[in-house]
Amino acid sequence: MRPQLRWLRRAALPFLLLVALAYVVGRAVFGRVAPALAVAAFVAFLPQHLAILGSVNNDALSELIIAAILAHEATHIDRAVSGTACYYVDACTKLSNGVELEEEIVAHEAEAVWWLAAYGRNGKDRAFSSDASENRLKAAYLHGPDVFRKFVREMRSDEREGDGM
Ligand SMILES: [Zn+2]
Repeated sequence: MRPQLRWLRRAALPFLLLVALAYVVGRAVFGRVAPALAVAAFVAFLPQHLAILGSVNNDALSELIIAAILAHEATHIDRAVSGTACYYVDACTKLSNGVELEEEIVAHEAEAVWWLAAYGRNGKDRAFSSDASENRLKAAYLHGPDVFRKFVREMRSDEREGDGM
């Protein structure tokens, strides 16, 4: 088989899994079918995504970290669009670096839920850097709302961070 076809075949299953997961997360975040399909299509046709699949060892599962970040950002976007974001309601705890705590708790929660859907309760094996962070986030989430709140506060309290993300 020609090399191009070989990577295509190896990438096909994880790629379809990633698109399916994008749909599930889109559905969970937006609660409606149309935006969920849009998220799945966005992931499926992202040119960078296809280029990465073609060049970097064909491991679509390593891109689940990107999908976790998308779940986080999609939550902020959804809250901004629906008018429930912290800067509308002005009822959130503002950390000394400007980070709105409740806003980030909800977004990191979406991330943790995504990570659970992708890797299950034990998280990802052989996890380094970002993967290890997602594993810790997921573990904190499984300990319940109080532990998760404390975890996010600790993680987002760096003075250099400022608001955003
Ligand atoms: Zn955020």
